Amino acid sequence: MKAEIIAIGSELLTPFKLDTNSLYLTEQLERLGIPVVQKTVVGDDHERLKAAFAEALKRSDLVIGIGGLGPTQDDRTREAVADLLKRKLHRNQEVVAAMEERFRARGRQMSEVNLRQAMVPAGADWLPNPNGTAPGLWLKTKEERIVLLLPGPPPELKPMFEEHALPRLRPRAPRQALVTKVLKTVGLPESEVEQRIAPLYREVTNPETTLLASPGQVEIHLRARGSEAGEALRRAEELAERLEQALGEAVFARGPETLEQVVGLYLMMRGATLAVAESCTGGLVAERLTNVSGSSHYFLGGVVCYSGKLKSKVVGVSDALLKRKGEVSVEVAESLAKKIRRRTGAVLGLGVTGIAGPTGGSPDKPVGTVFISLADAHRVKSEKHRFLGDRERIRWQAAQAALDLVRRKLLK
Ligand code: AMP
Ligand code: MG
Repeated sequence: MKAEIIAIGSELLTPFKLDTNSLYLTEQLERLGIPVVQKTVVGDDHERLKAAFAEALKRSDLVIGIGGLGPTQDDRTREAVADLLKRKLHRNQEVVAAMEERFRARGRQMSEVNLRQAMVPAGADWLPNPNGTAPGLWLKTKEERIVLLLPGPPPELKPMFEEHALPRLRPRAPRQALVTKVLKTVGLPESEVEQRIAPLYREVTNPETTLLASPGQVEIHLRARGSEAGEALRRAEELAERLEQALGEAVFARGPETLEQVVGLYLMMRGATLAVAESCTGGLVAERLTNVSGSSHYFLGGVVCYSGKLKSKVVGVSDALLKRKGEVSVEVAESLAKKIRRRTGAVLGLGVTGIAGPTGGSPDKPVGTVFISLADAHRVKSEKHRFLGDRERIRWQAAQAALDLVRRKLLK
């Protein structure tokens, strides 16, 4: 069985709105062992919609349309599909009753335009929408192909898919399990990751391996198939283990965890606390750490000491040192780490200073130069980095490297 997704809505063809629903659906379908072979984005246009569904139905056994089921005239999916499949639209009294009930529960009157949403093509099943008015639709073509129409808002689409579409799809899914596994690495460029693991995965088609690179992070995604989940899982784990050996300490997660979650977990396990003094990252390290719920157990807080004045007045770096070495220097990073540690009583102190650009670079300290230091009671470990990219990318990579310095310290 093969699937296709048609994302419907003229807003999805503007620079302002992205089709995210299909990412969710693709993940769900993959779990069922149903591959998504094509995705289309089409505006709210009757003829284009008809053509998109006609094309998709030539290729695929399951065609999922997302959106265009709203009450207004610019939502045309229902009509286009009914027209293509030559089905008459009838007002369905059960749908009307469900919609009226929903409005009544909120103390509101249903308006006339909502009745459009109760139009169901002949022979179609409708799927309840507990989080909105538009019901989903499930149709079978003469050729036994399935058309599934789902509402666009993600809070409506997801529960409807899970509660009402999944139970219908499961018996049709191939009896083949698909297991995905992810390894996340930090600190290695994509080319280096590839070089280390290519000999291990290149000839292997099951699991299928793909690399996903983002600034300061490379993820390796494994997708293994098997006649049952246990077999697929064994295949995925066996290869993942070999890849992990080749990558060593660069692997920070074997699942969906973020770097800040992993750092938090390690701090918690060691009963350690952390405080930060950030210059060029402007609080990004603290922001990421506090994205994790429960981080108050190990993250004491930090200072965004963007000026020399705050580096000395608030954190306690000496004016003489700032003058002698410059604000962007390994000595200042070390002093930031040591002083913030002492001032806050944290077990670990982290200091970050650098040039995020695009201005402010010099021949000996070009844009992207970042010093990061981590202090404990006995010593300070420092790193000098030279990141490439725009300001946002440099700051992100600096935060990534800073978090990784903490992680590596706690690995030992
Ligand atoms: P509709 O069902 O076409 O009325 O869609 C209602 C709203 O759902 C739209 O305004 C979008 O904000 C959202 N939406 C529609 N399609 C998608 C999609 N493919 N991905 C994410 N959001 C969507
Ligand atoms: Mg729409």
